[in-house]
Amino acid sequence: MAGLYINQHVLNNLFYILVTVFAFSFIYDHSPAIQRKPLYNRALLSTCLALASVLCMKFPIYIDPTCIHDFRQIPFLLGTLYGGGGVGAVLFVVSMLARTILYGFQPLTLIVYAIMLVAAAAASPLFRRLPRSGKLFTAIWLTFLLAVLTTFVAIIIADFPVTKPYIVYFILMPPFVMMFAVYLMETLHEAQLARAELMKMEKMEIVSQLAASISHEIRNPLTVVKGFIQLLQTGPLPRETEERYIRIALEEVKRAEAIIHDYLTFAKPAPKETEPIDVAVELQKVLQMIAPMAHMHSVDLASSLEHAVVTGNVQYFQQCFLNLFKNSIEAMPNGGTLRVTAENRETSVVITISDNGIGMTKEQVRRFGEPYFSTKEKGTGLGAMVAVKIIEQMGGTWKIESAVQKGTTVTITLPARRVRPPSAQQSTAG
Ligand code: ADP
Ligand code: MG
Repeated sequence: MAGLYINQHVLNNLFYILVTVFAFSFIYDHSPAIQRKPLYNRALLSTCLALASVLCMKFPIYIDPTCIHDFRQIPFLLGTLYGGGGVGAVLFVVSMLARTILYGFQPLTLIVYAIMLVAAAAASPLFRRLPRSGKLFTAIWLTFLLAVLTTFVAIIIADFPVTKPYIVYFILMPPFVMMFAVYLMETLHEAQLARAELMKMEKMEIVSQLAASISHEIRNPLTVVKGFIQLLQTGPLPRETEERYIRIALEEVKRAEAIIHDYLTFAKPAPKETEPIDVAVELQKVLQMIAPMAHMHSVDLASSLEHAVVTGNVQYFQQCFLNLFKNSIEAMPNGGTLRVTAENRETSVVITISDNGIGMTKEQVRRFGEPYFSTKEKGTGLGAMVAVKIIEQMGGTWKIESAVQKGTTVTITLPARRVRPPSAQQSTAG
C-alpha cells in the first residue's frame, strides 16, 4: 500500500533535500568565515534550501489540476526552524516566485506557506535550543500539524478537494522526510562540533607538553652535574682531572640555563590564560631585552611596528619572539641588521623578522621547529620548537624564506583580536 506511493519522484524529492543539507554542511565545514558570521551562515542556509525547494517544485511528485505535490515544505520548514524568520522569508519569496514562474500564481499556496512561515519562525528560537531528540520530536509534529491546519484552511477558503495522494504526499509523508532531514542536520553538526573540540584539546595539550618537557630537559644536565660533583667528592684527584670535571659540570649548568632561557624567560608563577596583547608594545619590550646581545654581536636593530592587538598569553608571546630574535642574531656572527616589522591587516597581524645572516638550506627550513634540531655546537634545538608551538597555540601560521649566506625572513601571521562593538569600547589612546 505505502509502496505504491513511494515512487521514483518521491525518491528524487528526498534526494534533493538530503543533498542540499549535505552541501550546506560541507560548505559550512570548510569556511571559517561562515562559521564566524551568523549572517553568512543564514545566507548559505537560505541558498541551499531555496535550491532544494525549487528542485522539488521543478520535478514534483505529482501534478493534478488543483495542486502540485512535492516536498518543498520540508526545506522550507527546515530552513525556517534552523535559521529563523529571515531565512524563512527568503525561502518564502523564492518558492512563491518559483511557483508562479513554473506553474502560475496560486493564492491558496501563498496563504498556506504564509501560515507555515509564521508558525515555524515563531517556533524557531525555542527549537534551536532543544537537544537532538527534542528537535526531532518538534519538527515531526510541527510538520504534521501545519499540514493538517493548512489543509483545513484550504478547505474552508477554497473548498479544496482533498484527494488520497494529497493526504499521502502533503500530510503523511512529510513528517517522516522531516525526521530524516533534521536527523542529518544534527548528525553533521555534532560531528563538526566534535572535531572542533578535538582541535581545542590538542592545543591545550601543547601547554602541558611544554611543562612536561621542561622538567625532562633540565633533569638531564642536572644529573650530569651531580655525577661530576660526586666524583670530585670521592677524594683527591689530579689537578687536571679536577679541572676537566669542573669544566664539564659548568657546561652542563650552562646548558640547563640555555634550556630555561628558551622555555621560561618570561614564565610567571600564575600566568593568565589569555589576554589582549599589543603587538607593538610587547615586541618593543623584547627588542629592548635583546639589545645588549645584539650590541655584542655588532647587530643593528631596526623596527617598524604598527599597533595591533592579538589574543594570547603575554609571557608566551614574548618567549616566542625572544627565541626567534636570538636565532637571527646568532645567525649573524659578523654583524648585520635584525629587522622586525608588524603590520596591522584588520583581521590579522603580520610580523616579519629578517636577518642578513648565514641563512638556512632547504633541509634546515623543513626541519625548523623540530625538537632538538640544531646546527649550533651548543644549541638546544628547542627555541624554534617553542616559538612554533606558541604561534600555533595562538591560532597563527608561520613561513620561512631563507637563502644560504644571504639571510632569513620569518613571517608570522596571527589572528587579530576581534574588536568589541563601538558602544562597549573604551576610549583607546593613539
Ligand atoms: P638553537 O638556536 O638552540 O640551535 P633553535 O630551535 O632555536 O635551536 O633553532 C634550530 C635551528 O634552526 C638552528 O640551529 C639553526 O640552524 C636554524 N635557524 C633558526 N633560525 C635561524 C636563522 N634566523 N638563520 C639561520 N638559521 C636559523
Ligand atoms: Mg635558538
